[in-house]
Amino acid sequence: KGDLRTVKNFFKRNGLLTLSVISVITGCTLGFMLRGSQMSTQIYFSFPGELLMRMLKMLILPLITSRNMVPSNLIEATFQQYKTDLIPILKVPTKTIQPNFVYVIPDDNDPKGRMVYLELTPPPDVIYKTSPGSSQQMNVLGIVIFSATMGLLLGRMGERGVPLINVCQCINECVMKIINAAVWYFPFGIIFLVAGKILDMQDPSTLGKKLGWYGVTVLTGLFVHGLVLLPLFYFLLTRKNPFSYIRGLLQALVIALATSSSSATLPITMKCLLENCHVDRQIARFVLPVGATINMDGTALYEAVAAIFIAQVNDYELDFGQLVTISITATAASIGAAGIPQAGLVTMVIVLTSVGLPPDDITLIVAIDWILDRFRTMINVLGDALAAGIIAHLCRKDFPLSTAGKHERICLT
Ligand code: ASP
Repeated sequence: KGDLRTVKNFFKRNGLLTLSVISVITGCTLGFMLRGSQMSTQIYFSFPGELLMRMLKMLILPLITSRNMVPSNLIEATFQQYKTDLIPILKVPTKTIQPNFVYVIPDDNDPKGRMVYLELTPPPDVIYKTSPGSSQQMNVLGIVIFSATMGLLLGRMGERGVPLINVCQCINECVMKIINAAVWYFPFGIIFLVAGKILDMQDPSTLGKKLGWYGVTVLTGLFVHGLVLLPLFYFLLTRKNPFSYIRGLLQALVIALATSSSSATLPITMKCLLENCHVDRQIARFVLPVGATINMDGTALYEAVAAIFIAQVNDYELDFGQLVTISITATAASIGAAGIPQAGLVTMVIVLTSVGLPPDDITLIVAIDWILDRFRTMINVLGDALAAGIIAHLCRKDFPLSTAGKHERICLT
């Protein structure tokens, strides 16, 4: 009887997660069984999965704006800090800010070293990336900055700002309720999302042995980064068990695996952090959207391995300096990649051109990119969530933070 109760309790707590994992397995099986079916079957098959993606994307905008527009002492303190730190820097003549710069790396043949020209994102592009409404796809970082500024100003308005703050809190509560209801659709959507992708996939037998090893290298790297390095950082900085924290994130990791998009996973990551990991809402609402846009450990790792693989296929020997260049540009390129499926593949061009490799060779890795994308997205989401946990821990003394919970209300009167 006791055993039965334990099983019941397990499903009560982990029911959704179990269903999601079963869905991924079912989706893979169905996808392989139906491979070779007609195009029309494929289109209908992808429909429930596409619906899931749209549902998630629909929630991002109201979730981020309603959360960040509620004043928080974290944003206020960050603003004050920037006012003291940034204004003196801005007074330095703008001439010193160069969009591209040259740096010197050691070279065996030249005692002076070799000059490498590194193309950085020019300042106007940085501004485009952080200003809302400037691009066709959703500009998450721009929305965070806009809504955090609104929150800052509303907090300083006193009584007059309270009605709008209340509206934002109501919207936020509604969004959380929608997420809680929508998660029950996810297992169904995941089956078709995964199966649809497998129906579309190139025949695995046509992929070369070398490509297989490349895939294994990327996956091993991601595995070591996600299960050894990130948890180690978390432990060293917080002295808490990283794996019990990661357990609370499993639902978000399955959604990342199914959607290949850290932005689309954002609502679920937020839910997991608040409800399972008990990270303070002020930290979660600010760190997660910023992380989903610019903090992509998995993408950086994959881009570096892919560039080395392409060099090897071309019999192009890379020296130590070029390896350093690859790691720097891969990190920069991952910051530039959006949190959407296969964005990293596009920004790979920066890495390849930085060491003189043909950008067209991206075609060599396209065949298995869709699967690697799923795993690197999981690591991207994990990195953001662990970062939020570390920041929450480090800020606990500076901010008398409220405990996070399902219903978030702050008392303003
Ligand atoms: N799909 C990844 C993400 O959303 C980005 C990428 O590496 O392509 O995090």
